[in-house]
Amino acid sequence: MNVVSLLPTGKKYSVGKILCLGRNYAEHAKEMGGGAPSTPIIFLKPSTAIIGNGEPIVLPGMSKEVHHEVELTVLLGRKGKNIPQAEALDYVEGYAIGLDMTMRDRQREAKAVGNPWSIAKGFDTSAPLSPFVAKSEITDPNNLSISLKLNGVERQRSNTSNMIFKIDYIIAFLSSIFTLEEGDVIYTGTPEGVGKVSAGDVIDAEITGVGKLHHPVVAASKVAR
Ligand code: MG
Repeated sequence: MNVVSLLPTGKKYSVGKILCLGRNYAEHAKEMGGGAPSTPIIFLKPSTAIIGNGEPIVLPGMSKEVHHEVELTVLLGRKGKNIPQAEALDYVEGYAIGLDMTMRDRQREAKAVGNPWSIAKGFDTSAPLSPFVAKSEITDPNNLSISLKLNGVERQRSNTSNMIFKIDYIIAFLSSIFTLEEGDVIYTGTPEGVGKVSAGDVIDAEITGVGKLHHPVVAASKVAR
């Protein structure tokens, strides 16, 4: 699936690229064994990684350590290049809750030898996304409660106010490198508490006022796609 919808109208957007931030919360940077970055750490996922709320997250057979990362995501509504930070939020169409599912073992191996993270971050079903809510519905995207439960037990809880790089800065920064287009999605990074999921687990995640996600986790062999 590479089409997402905007509430309340249900307008559809074809997702072009998914731009993601790494280590954008200081406490998560710490648990990953690194410091807070001085410039944004950017990677991409293909739009084929997107699944909608309720669809199963399929664990790739090549990984023994797939992690959950709950994140605020941003849908862009206009094309732009070299967007001034002061105008950046004019390019936002809406916000959603997303999961940045990550093969942590494969990411660790890639980091160790300086290889890209594309496999660890871009596999099928690695980008669950709720429907987007129009930005007019969200008073302050930089002050939202964000949390995730695994099998009913809370694993992640924070507030988007803890993001190191804020949304306007992120958009300005990204647009200095990539032409941004309508339908592009930004994953803004995860707070601390990331951890392993296993087949049979259930993930429930929420950003207050933005949306909820509910996803079963299944092994690759159980699903034909
Ligand atoms: Mg992430």
